[in-house]
Amino acid sequence: MLPGILKAKLGKPVPLFCQWETTFRCNMNCVFCSIPQNSAKWAETTTAEALDIIDQLAEIGTKIMNFSGGEPFLRKDFFEMADRAKSQGMIVFVNTNGLLVEKNISEITRERFDFMRISIDGNKELHDRLRKCDGAFDAAFKAVELIKKKGVGCMINTVVTKDTKPWELSELLERAKGIGIKVSLTPAVPFQPCKENKGKPELDKEFENALIDVPSFMALLNEMKKHYPETVDDLKSYWKILEKGGLEKFGCRVMDIAIGIKPDGRVSFPCTVFPAKMVKGRLKDVFYGEEAERQRRLQGKYAFCQNCFSRCGSFPTLILDFGSLFSMARNWGGF
Ligand code: SF4
Ligand code: SF4
Repeated sequence: MLPGILKAKLGKPVPLFCQWETTFRCNMNCVFCSIPQNSAKWAETTTAEALDIIDQLAEIGTKIMNFSGGEPFLRKDFFEMADRAKSQGMIVFVNTNGLLVEKNISEITRERFDFMRISIDGNKELHDRLRKCDGAFDAAFKAVELIKKKGVGCMINTVVTKDTKPWELSELLERAKGIGIKVSLTPAVPFQPCKENKGKPELDKEFENALIDVPSFMALLNEMKKHYPETVDDLKSYWKILEKGGLEKFGCRVMDIAIGIKPDGRVSFPCTVFPAKMVKGRLKDVFYGEEAERQRRLQGKYAFCQNCFSRCGSFPTLILDFGSLFSMARNWGGF
């Protein structure tokens, strides 16, 4: 990792971190997400294309592969993709809603996966309501327990909305504490991953109403950290971005060290949460091409970058900050 980080710090971008939305199909329909309504319009890479993409990523320096979606376990070739990434020496992360973990538990091994993030947005009532899915909480919590038992790294990812009450989070944190699992709290962000955007996000009303303002989010986070210091994810690095007022003001570096891939194999510039341009081609040519250079100058400066607190953009940006890198490495223990 370190030579890549140094290179990127010195102005030569390296896609150390890949955020791959492997499919936009999903077995949930969360209030803060536009993916399920758009999934039918999206093609997916074939298995051969997907494996070739992984090989190309390895060639240009990717060391951390983060498979997300939609729901990545819906891809029939998902384990094959994870195996190829491992055989290329990558650290493999997965973001999942957890519904398909129990069914696939025999395939979830330490050899295949390094770290899984399971989404749980509060106590049972709140989670099932936000996810529009009865039984989602029980399935996700069971998934956490099963993954932990298999010895794979695991963390709960919690999207906080305006509706989230402290006691709803406390119930989740209490349970997570009981089984020694950390919880990462994130404000719901107005992401629009399914279409090219240039201006401010056009949000539907339900989505807009769910967004929490950052001072309220920080107050809630502080309160939770006070009561559950060991369970709430280490915030030192992410806190810097919150305090600054977002990635736009902090200085987004997402394109210097990360590459975002869409389900159809196109590269998403400048990031996955807000694609301004999506480009297909040999990844080396795309990542170092003219369009990429143009987008690198625009990263963090689009209208949609205002108030961006995306963890997907924050993580790569913070990798380039040595203090934050150390804190993240200690926190996750995986690298
Ligand atoms: S937030 Fe995740 S689990 Fe929920 S609908 Fe969107 S992709 Fe599916
Ligand atoms: S600030 Fe960075 S991560 Fe956020 S939307 Fe803009 S380019 Fe993407």
